[in-house]
Amino acid sequence: MTEKLIDKVNKRRTFAIISHPDAGKTTITEQLLLFGGVIRQAGTVKARKTGNYATSDWMEIEKQRGISVTSSVMQFEYEGKRINILDTPGHQDFSEDTYRTLMAVDAAVMVIDSAKGIEPQTKKLFKVVKKRGIPIFTFMNKLDRDGRPPLDLIAELEELLGIEGVAMDWPIGSGQTLKGLYDIANKRVELYHKDGEDRFIPLTEDGTLPDSEELSHDPQFEETLDDIDLIKEAGNTFDLEKIAKGDQTPVFFGSALTNFGVETFLKSFVDLAPAPSSHEVNGGEELAADDPSFAGFIFKIQANMNPHHRDRIAFVRVASGEFNRGLDVTLARTGKTIRLNNATEFMSSERVQVNDAVAGDIVGLYDTGNFQIGDSIYSGKRKVEFPELPEFTPELFMRVTAKNVMKQKSFHKGMNQLVQEGAIQLYKNYQTDDYILGAVGQLQFEVFKFRMMNEYNSEVEMTPIGHRVARWINPDQLDLSMSNSRNLLVKDRYDNPLFLFENEFAERFFKDKYPDIELSEKL
Ligand code: GDP
Repeated sequence: MTEKLIDKVNKRRTFAIISHPDAGKTTITEQLLLFGGVIRQAGTVKARKTGNYATSDWMEIEKQRGISVTSSVMQFEYEGKRINILDTPGHQDFSEDTYRTLMAVDAAVMVIDSAKGIEPQTKKLFKVVKKRGIPIFTFMNKLDRDGRPPLDLIAELEELLGIEGVAMDWPIGSGQTLKGLYDIANKRVELYHKDGEDRFIPLTEDGTLPDSEELSHDPQFEETLDDIDLIKEAGNTFDLEKIAKGDQTPVFFGSALTNFGVETFLKSFVDLAPAPSSHEVNGGEELAADDPSFAGFIFKIQANMNPHHRDRIAFVRVASGEFNRGLDVTLARTGKTIRLNNATEFMSSERVQVNDAVAGDIVGLYDTGNFQIGDSIYSGKRKVEFPELPEFTPELFMRVTAKNVMKQKSFHKGMNQLVQEGAIQLYKNYQTDDYILGAVGQLQFEVFKFRMMNEYNSEVEMTPIGHRVARWINPDQLDLSMSNSRNLLVKDRYDNPLFLFENEFAERFFKDKYPDIELSEKL
């Protein structure tokens, strides 16, 4: 008998890892893939990251940086669950796509370096996830090194992010003296530095270790028991409802590099993370994840940087029904019917043709220009339109002009299409109408320049304006004399005025000078 749609959907766990560069995202991803049996050897994902991985058709810029389409989504099975990890590029590869990917997941895992605590990029990504109100899990990494005390790390979650932390496990020792992990949820201890199944020791009824275990007499284990008592009494109480909304985060400890605590995390994660649920569509209707008709939305478009291959890949988050090859879908924006013959599901080591994908899965569609970011596609009779994806406040700005003044037409065409597609944001100087591009990461400018040349035969000249703090202002309150070199006045593509402040001081100075002016930040 074929499996019922609802059963397939309930097996899905789709999430992204949010972290600051170097916290250990790649390392933990790799360990998870090892558990899932997708890769056999540690170092595979890493090799890809550093670019020592041979695949012929990666996109040029991304190849240099070692990201691939295939690593954009990684899928594996664990304990009967189908897990999709969506990659969220960081470093210089940080872009609006990184944020938009967070619109396509059902949960997030925040990886924190336990010596450094919460770092800036984690904070930014957290903000986006928090706004979605989805569960956020926390993995405190690098326990094999001397880090901050676990209690401090949990307190910091509340202080800096405003989210309650609830410990799911607790380290026994730390750094040089790391001995193991007290797994509160699964009532067992995971020993450090022991391979195989015998690294897990079940706890006794009273929550301690059997006398026969050497560790049970260790003063560090005693300390852990004291800590556990303390957090049970004074810490946050585990609350599934709060977790579901992203108001509380289950906290796990471990060391990805030494594969410690990762399986303990994964085991609880597949239990606690939600299966795909319904989506709000058509401005207020509900679309069930097991609705028999296919529907999905495009959250990312990856352009092919190889000039010989003009195709692009549109990433679709399946929200309902089942996706099959050859499916006819309607594109809500145009009403046009498109046959989806050429789709790819993502495995970590190869691209495979997709046979069926259900809610929670990601499908890559080869696209010749039909799709835009945020597009809704559906197969049933009922029109399905997903809410617009949010636009994110850019932080980096560049002046842009066409190098060849004779080629204004292709310059404007390319610019308009790339802006529409969501590859970059466009602003104009309020007075001179000069073009200014805005992005959340440097990569977006590079991709823009490359695509303008290759797809529109338009060479562009870009002059960095640098980091700016973008704040929108109510047009009724605007007075042109408010603008100066430290707070550049521009308008967005809907002609809304905004200031690009040189830095936060310039913003504060402005606020002091004009206390009645409201400034707002988009997310
Ligand atoms: P990413 O930038 O977040 O993907 O971080 P990586 O996974 O590339 O890790 C950054 C560095 O930290 C690498 O040198 C890793 O080997 C190291 N690292 C990752 N996890 C651990 C850990 O648990 N302990 C220690 N000591 N180092 C780690």
